[in-house]
Amino acid sequence: MTKRIFRSILLVSGLVLLVGLGCMLAVFRQYFDGQLEKELQQEASYLSIAVEDSGADALEKLSSQRERVTWIGADGKVLFDNRADSEGMENHGDREEIQEALEKGSGQATRYSSTLGEKTVYYALRLEDGTVLRVSTTQYTTASIVLGMLQPVLWILILALVLSGIFASRASKTIVAPLNKLDLDNPELNEPYEEVAPLLGKIGHQQRTIRRQLKEARRQQEEFAMITGHMEEGLLVIDKQTDLLSWNPSALRLLGSKEARAETSVLSLNRSEPFQKAVEGALAGSRTETLLEVNGVFCRISANPVLDEGAVKGAVLLLVDVTETMQRENLRREFTANVSHELKTPLTSISGFAEILQDGLVQPQDIRKFAGRIFDEAQRLIVLVSDVIKISQLDEGSVPYEAETVELSEMVNGILTRLTPAAEKNQITLHTEGTAKLRTVKPILEEVLYNLCDNAVKYNRKGGKVSVDLRQEKDFIEVSVSDTGIGIPAADQSRVFERFYRVDKSHSKEIGGTGLGLSIVKHGAAYLGASLDLQSSPGEGSTFTLHWELSENDQTGK
Ligand code: ADP
Repeated sequence: MTKRIFRSILLVSGLVLLVGLGCMLAVFRQYFDGQLEKELQQEASYLSIAVEDSGADALEKLSSQRERVTWIGADGKVLFDNRADSEGMENHGDREEIQEALEKGSGQATRYSSTLGEKTVYYALRLEDGTVLRVSTTQYTTASIVLGMLQPVLWILILALVLSGIFASRASKTIVAPLNKLDLDNPELNEPYEEVAPLLGKIGHQQRTIRRQLKEARRQQEEFAMITGHMEEGLLVIDKQTDLLSWNPSALRLLGSKEARAETSVLSLNRSEPFQKAVEGALAGSRTETLLEVNGVFCRISANPVLDEGAVKGAVLLLVDVTETMQRENLRREFTANVSHELKTPLTSISGFAEILQDGLVQPQDIRKFAGRIFDEAQRLIVLVSDVIKISQLDEGSVPYEAETVELSEMVNGILTRLTPAAEKNQITLHTEGTAKLRTVKPILEEVLYNLCDNAVKYNRKGGKVSVDLRQEKDFIEVSVSDTGIGIPAADQSRVFERFYRVDKSHSKEIGGTGLGLSIVKHGAAYLGASLDLQSSPGEGSTFTLHWELSENDQTGK
C-alpha cells in the first residue's frame, strides 16, 4: 500500500510539475509578446516623430545593433534600413504590416523562420507624408527557447522529481503508519481516519461473529472430547481418504497404538487385514463389522459410512472391547466340555456295572460289592452335579441368600466335625484357634471353608495336621487353613483355581475330588469380598488365607 500511495503521489506531482511548467511557459510567452509589441509600438512612435522632424537624418544615426528600423516609401520602395543597404532591397509594398499600415495607419505582423527557430515581429506606422516607418525585432520561438533551456530545465525537473519522491515517500509513510498501528483485535477503539471508520466497524462486527462461532465450536469440541474421552468404547472418525479427523484414547488403546496424529491415515494405527477391510467397506458405503485381536485384547469393530446426499464423506468406527465376553465364552465352552467328560466317566461305570448285573454275570455274593460301586459312582455324580450348580450360581451372581452375622469359630467347628471321620482314617488331627465375627453370606462362606478344609484333609499325609486360624483385628479379618500335606508345586499354584484342574490327575479319582473345589473357593471369596492367598511348598504343606479389609461401617457394626 505504501508503494502504491508513493507511486500515485509521485505521478501526480510529476504531472502537476509538467502541466505547471507548460502553463507558466505559455503565460510568460504571452506576457513577453505583449511587452515586445508595446516596446515596438513606442519605439515606432518616437522614431516617427523624429523622422517627421528631421527626415532621414534622424535615422542615419541609428546603430545597426538595435532593433531593425526600415523606412518605406508610399510606393513600397525601401528608403532606409539600418541593417542593410536600402538600394539592394526589394519592394516592401506587399508586406502584410506595410499594407495594413498604409490602409489603417498602423500594421503588425509576425513571421516565422523554422530553420532558424526564430520569429520576427514587425510594427509599421504610417507617417503624415504617406511613408511608412517599420520597426522589427527578432525573437526566439517557444520551441527554440525550450530547446535552448533544455539542460537547466532538465536539472530543475530532476531536482523537482527527487524532491517529489522524498516528499511522496514521507507522505505515503505518514498516511500508512496509523493504519499499520491499527489494533485489529479491537478495531473500533482505533481512530486513524474518519474514512476508515465504517471499514473498522465492519471488521469489528465480523470479529465478534467469528469469536462467537469459535467459542461455540470450541465448546462443542470440548464437549465431544469430554464425552468420548470417558468412553470405554473406542471411537474414530475418518474422512474418505482414510485420514483421521477425531479419535478418543480408548480407540488407541484397543488398536494397540500409543499416539495418533490428525490428517494421517487411520491405517497407520493398525495395519491388520480385518481392520483395513472394515475401513474400506465403510468407505465403500456399507456397514462393516469385524473382530480384531491386538495383544490378547479382542475388540469388535463396527464401521459405518457417513453419507451426505448419498455420497460417502467419511466413516465412523466404533470399537468395543469384547475380551471378557470372549474369555467367558471360551471358559463356558471348555467348562461344558469338561462337565460332559466328568459326567461321562461315572455314568459309564454305573452303566457297565448295571449291565453286568442285568446279564446275571455276577456271583450272588458279589452283588453287594457291585451295588456299592454303583452307589459310589452315583455319589460322585451327585457331588459333581451339585458343584456344577454352585459354580454356575456364583458365575451368574444368582445366589439366593441374604447376608447375616456369622460367628466364624462356630462355623469352623461344625466343618471340622463333619470332616472328623475322613481325618481319623488317616490319623489326621484337626485344630482351630481364635475367633472372629463377620457379616457375610453364610452358605457361601461355609462352602468355601469346607472346600479348603476338605482339601487340607484329602491332600494330607498319614498322621498329619490341619489347623484353621481365625484372626480378628480392628481393620481386617483373616482366616487361614493350613495343612502339613503334600503341598502344591510352584508351577501349579496359579492353576489349581482353574475349573477341573488337578495336580495329580491319576491320583485324583481315588481321592474323590471333582476338580471344582478351589474354583468354587476362588469365586466364593470374590463374591464375599475377600482376597485369597496361597502359600505352599511340596512335601511340607499348604496354607490358604482369606482376608477381609474392614470398612468403618463394618468396624462399628461388629
Ligand atoms: P479336587 O476336587 O480335585 O480337590 P480342587 O479344585 O479342590 O479339586 O483342587 C484342585 C487341585 O489342587 C487338586 O486336585 C490338588 O491337586 C490340588 N490341591 C488342592 N488343595 C490342596 C492342598 N491342600 N494340598 C495339596 N494339593 C492341593
